[in-house]
Amino acid sequence: MKTWIPDERNFAYLNWKQVDALPRDKTLLVLPTAAIEQHGHHLPLATDTLINNLLLGHAIKKLPAEVPVYALPPVHYGKSNEHLGFPGTLSLSASTFMAVLRDLGASLSAARFQKLVLYNTHGGNTSLIDVMARDLRAEFGLRTFALHGSGGISFEGLDPQEKAYGFHAGEVETAFLLAAVPELVDRSAYTVNYIADSKKPELLLPENAAATFAWLTRDIADSGVMGDPRPATAENGAKWLDAAATRLAAALQAMVNFPNAAK
Ligand SMILES: [Zn+2]
Repeated sequence: MKTWIPDERNFAYLNWKQVDALPRDKTLLVLPTAAIEQHGHHLPLATDTLINNLLLGHAIKKLPAEVPVYALPPVHYGKSNEHLGFPGTLSLSASTFMAVLRDLGASLSAARFQKLVLYNTHGGNTSLIDVMARDLRAEFGLRTFALHGSGGISFEGLDPQEKAYGFHAGEVETAFLLAAVPELVDRSAYTVNYIADSKKPELLLPENAAATFAWLTRDIADSGVMGDPRPATAENGAKWLDAAATRLAAALQAMVNFPNAAK
């Protein structure tokens, strides 16, 4: 898998003596969580994993060299059962995903690390990340943080409909990949599909509503796309990447500064 994480920030490139020398009270370890799942006809299975690494790598590059932040190897597989039925989707069950995070938390706690952030870029993992951040805090005394996607940036220039319902293989994900790995985007294979209209709020929606129905992708998106990738440009991708990296870097710095947990 391609990586944008600087070598000197890659936890797995250290040897154990170097790890042992890291200051436990300040060091923040980042565990990326993503997915290997269908992303329509035009984006690769690894889209969420590539975007995670791209954004995190650029965020870490913005941190001063003395800020002790290291990226752990990512959990490539996520809970993607919404996309099963599309060949190539490789999903973990909720219990497996949570067990993997718990075991990694146990290993880090045994090595006396105190700060861990779960950095997630796949929507299907989000609720499990929230559960595990609290459980790792409770079970191991880890100061655990959750960080999601692009850090809440406003995506300047993005249409409100796309902002509300372009959440899978739409303009944003396509733009990030056009900026970073255009060779992995098939621009001749775009499909467009909106699962709801942001101007006509129905009572019962698949997302972004008080009343929702649990959806599978095959119920609402034949091609696997939820959004419109056609307006995506590498220029916007690069602009949003820089904005997201700035926001994520600020969040990481705030986590480094945050007090450790009382055991
Ligand atoms: Zn995605």
